[in-house]
Amino acid sequence: MTTIAFIGLGHMGGPMAENLVRRGFPVTGFDLDPASLERAASAGVRIADSAADAASDAEIVITMLPAGQHVLAAYRGDGAAPGLLAAARPNTLFIDCSTISVAEEQLAAREAIAAGHRALDAPVSGGVLGAENAGLAFMVGGAAEDYAEALPVLEAMGARIVHCGAHGLGQAAKICNNLVLGISQIAVGEAFVLGEQLGLSHQALYDVMSNSSGQCWALSTNCPVPGPVPTSPANRDYAPGFAGALMAKDLGLAQDAIEQTGVDARLGLLARDMFRAFADGPGAGRDFSGIITTIREASGAAPLGAPEDTADTPRRRATTERTPL
Ligand code: NAD
Repeated sequence: MTTIAFIGLGHMGGPMAENLVRRGFPVTGFDLDPASLERAASAGVRIADSAADAASDAEIVITMLPAGQHVLAAYRGDGAAPGLLAAARPNTLFIDCSTISVAEEQLAAREAIAAGHRALDAPVSGGVLGAENAGLAFMVGGAAEDYAEALPVLEAMGARIVHCGAHGLGQAAKICNNLVLGISQIAVGEAFVLGEQLGLSHQALYDVMSNSSGQCWALSTNCPVPGPVPTSPANRDYAPGFAGALMAKDLGLAQDAIEQTGVDARLGLLARDMFRAFADGPGAGRDFSGIITTIREASGAAPLGAPEDTADTPRRRATTERTPL
């Protein structure tokens, strides 16, 4: 079996490494956080003394780190410790699963190739749940033959894997997808707050939109009001899910790409500002669908469940009964 080094055993990397072990891959891991190391060790990951040590004996090195600066620093090392690129055997396949900018990913790939290795970017969507149940979607950038070699490894951690093209295009696909997601979650939030003020019940609006052209994931899976979709984060006070801070981060990466390309993506930039404010305020640790609370407040509307709800306002006329179409 292919030997794998796994660097970054956090919320995502931990369960991903665990799924590789379950599928029989020998995995050596490293993380700066002792608690993450302990959890990974109890799942069967062999723990190395350093990232370089883990990489020195691997055919594939996977990184799952917070941001681009961490990936580049881990690749390069510092004066005191060798980096992954220097420690790995020649022609090692580096797979970066972190979400980072297209430019940083292309730089990381260039440096890996210059050091005599091969590189793929393979960012994911599907969140911690997807990481735990091997249901992640992978968006992959890099050479076709490297993609083919990585496929059995990615299949052990994911359910949908798409080769998007050259280095960096996996990150490009991820950024474009999350641009749509961020904008649509705001749009659905605005529609529900507007509906509330006009006297529409959440259920009625859900029943209409989920069967109409307003249908989208932000509504039908991540519905931002409690009730219509019982599994959505709104039903558990917006416990994530996908945290507002992560959406703000991804839209910041989209902003970098928008500015770099000069695309006229005004909605994307506005969504980025709104999620940045949400993440800096109440939303850092809450699901990003909780942005509806910010929209409600900015509209001067009472929070859900506030005493005003019992007054004779349009919202009082709201009902939770199903409305036939
Ligand atoms: P996390 O903070 O839980 O995990 C990152 C881990 O990297 C931490 O345990 C940290 O100690 C470790 N780390 C940092 N620098 C290191 C280094 N030099 N060497 C070894 N370990 C190091 O973050 P996460 O939620 O697992 O996310 C990881 C990546 O996946 C991010 O880029 C994120 O944007 C992306 N992502 C996250 C989600 C999600 O729902 N959490 C979904 C899709 C993509």
